[in-house]
Amino acid sequence: MYSAHDTSINSRFSVAIVGGGFSGATLAAHLLQLAGPSLSIVLIERAPFRARGIAYATQESRHLLNVPASNMSAFADDPQHFLSWARSNFDSGVQNGDFLSRRLYGQYVESVLDTAISRRRGEFQWRHGEVVGLRTQTGTTELVLRNGDKILAAAVVLALGNFPPADLRLPGKAAHSERYLSDPWSPVAPEKTPVDGEVLLVGSGLTSVDTLLTLRARGFRGRIHMLSRHGLLPQSHLPDSGYSTFKNFASSGTAIGLLRVVRAQVREAELRGEGWRSAVDSLRTATQGIWQTLPRIEQERFLRHLRAYWEVHRHRVAPEIGKVLKHQLLGGQLRVHAGRIVEYREHTNNVLVTLNERHRGTRRQMTVDLVVNCTGPVSDIRKANTRMLGDCLRQGLVRPDALSLGIDSAHDGAVINANGIASECLYTVGPLRKGNLWETIAVPEIRAQVADLASMLVNKHRSRQNFTTLMTETVRYV
Ligand SMILES: Cc1cc2nc3c(=O)[nH]c(=O)nc-3n(C[C@H](O)[C@H](O)[C@H](O)COP(=O)(O)OP(=O)(O)OC[C@H]3O[C@@H](n4cnc5c(N)ncnc54)[C@H](O)[C@@H]3O)c2cc1C
Repeated sequence: MYSAHDTSINSRFSVAIVGGGFSGATLAAHLLQLAGPSLSIVLIERAPFRARGIAYATQESRHLLNVPASNMSAFADDPQHFLSWARSNFDSGVQNGDFLSRRLYGQYVESVLDTAISRRRGEFQWRHGEVVGLRTQTGTTELVLRNGDKILAAAVVLALGNFPPADLRLPGKAAHSERYLSDPWSPVAPEKTPVDGEVLLVGSGLTSVDTLLTLRARGFRGRIHMLSRHGLLPQSHLPDSGYSTFKNFASSGTAIGLLRVVRAQVREAELRGEGWRSAVDSLRTATQGIWQTLPRIEQERFLRHLRAYWEVHRHRVAPEIGKVLKHQLLGGQLRVHAGRIVEYREHTNNVLVTLNERHRGTRRQMTVDLVVNCTGPVSDIRKANTRMLGDCLRQGLVRPDALSLGIDSAHDGAVINANGIASECLYTVGPLRKGNLWETIAVPEIRAQVADLASMLVNKHRSRQNFTTLMTETVRYV
C-alpha cells in the first residue's frame, strides 16, 4: 500500500503519467534521471499499490516471471540491473536463467522508482486516483479524476497497460451468475467451489495457467478443465535455452511467407542443435519491423490463422511451471479441450456446460462448480470498459488502431486522434501500442520505448522552456 502524497487541486505539471504499472513507473524513473529542476511530474494510479500493475501485483509466490532474470532489467543500457538487485535484495545465488517470482519483480520496479525519486532534481508527486476524463486546450491538458479533482499538464502519457478480459457472452448465461468469475485477477476468491470439485477455465493461455496455480495454492484438489478454440497450452522455456541473433531472411511480406521464414529458421536452429526456441527468440528484436512492413490484410491473416500458434511458442512459461502442467496433465487433474461453449445452464449447485468440440465436431457436456473467464486482457479499447477511454473516444482524442488491438499511435508514441492527426501533447506506451508494433507487451520492449519517450518528452520540455525564456526576454526588451 502506498500513502498518497497530498497535492493541491488544479496543480500544474510538465508531464502527467496515467497508470503506475511497469510502464508508468519506469517512465517516471527515466524522466527523473534526465530532468532538470524545472520539470515536474505527476504519476496517477488508481490501484492502492504502486509500480505493480496487473502483472506484478500478485502476492502468489508460484506466479513466476515468464522471462529469465537476465532479460528483465528495467534499463536496456544496464542489462544486469535486475540481476544485481535480486542478488543484493533476495538471494546472492540468483542465476541469469532463473525465473523469479512476479511479486519480487514488483518490489524491484518500486525500488527503481524510489531510487529515482530520492535522487530527483525536479518535482514529483504520486497521486492515488482514477483519471476519468481529459480536456485538451492549446498547450495544456486537464485531467479529471473520479473524485472531481483536476490536474493540468503540458504532456500526458497514457500508460494504462492491460485491461481485464471482456465479459464472456455464453448462450444461456444470465447477466449475473454466482458460478461465473468474469475477472480472473479480481480479489474475489472462488469460495463456493468445493476443494475437490471441477473448474472450467475458458482460455488456455498464461492467464489460465496463473489461475490454475492460484487455485492449487488455495488448496483446490479437484479437476481443472481448460477450454480454448485451439486447445493449445503455452510451451515451456528450457533451462538455459539460447537466444541467438535473427538471420535476416527476406520475408515475402505475407503471413504465409513469414511462417515459411520461421520454419526455415527453426530447421536451421535444430540442425545446429539449438532447438526451435532459439529461432523463435531470435525473431524478437526483428518482430516490430516485420510487423510494420506487413500489409494490413496480411496482419489480419496472421491474427486469424497463426496467432494462437505464435502465442504459445513466443509467450512461454517458466520451466518449473511447465513441469507442473505436464504432471497435472499426466495425472488427469488437468484436461485441455479445443472447442467453444454452445450452452451454459446454471443450477443451484453447479453449471452444465455444453461444448462443441473443434476436432471431432461433436457435442460434449460437463458439469462444473465454477467457470472462470481466462481469455486474457481485452485489447479493443471500445470494449475495455474504462471511463477515461470512453471519454477520450467520445471526444475523438483517441481512436482504436486498424486491428483494434489498442490505441492508434505514431512512431514516437503520440496518440492519433479520430481525424488521423498525431497529438502534440498526448502519448501512449506499452501494451496499448500492440496494433502498431505487435511486440510491445513485455519488459524488454517496453523499457526501450520508455527510454525513448522520456528523452523526447524532456527535449520537448526544454524547447518549451527556451521558448518561454525567449518570449519573456523579448517582451522585457520591447
Ligand atoms: C498476468 C501477467 C503476467 C505478465 N508477466 C510478464 C513477465 O513475466 N515478463 C514480462 O516481460 N512481461 C510480463 N507481462 C506483460 C506486461 O504487460 C508487462 O510486463 C508490464 O507489466 C506492462 O506494464 P504496464 O504498466 O504497461 O501495464 P499494467 O501493468 O497493466 O499497468 C497499468 C496501470 O494503469 C493503471 N490505470 C489504468 N487506467 C487508469 C486510470 N484511468 N487512472 C489511473 N490509473 C489507471 C492500472 O491500475 C495499472 O496499475 C505480464 C502481463 C500479465 C497481465
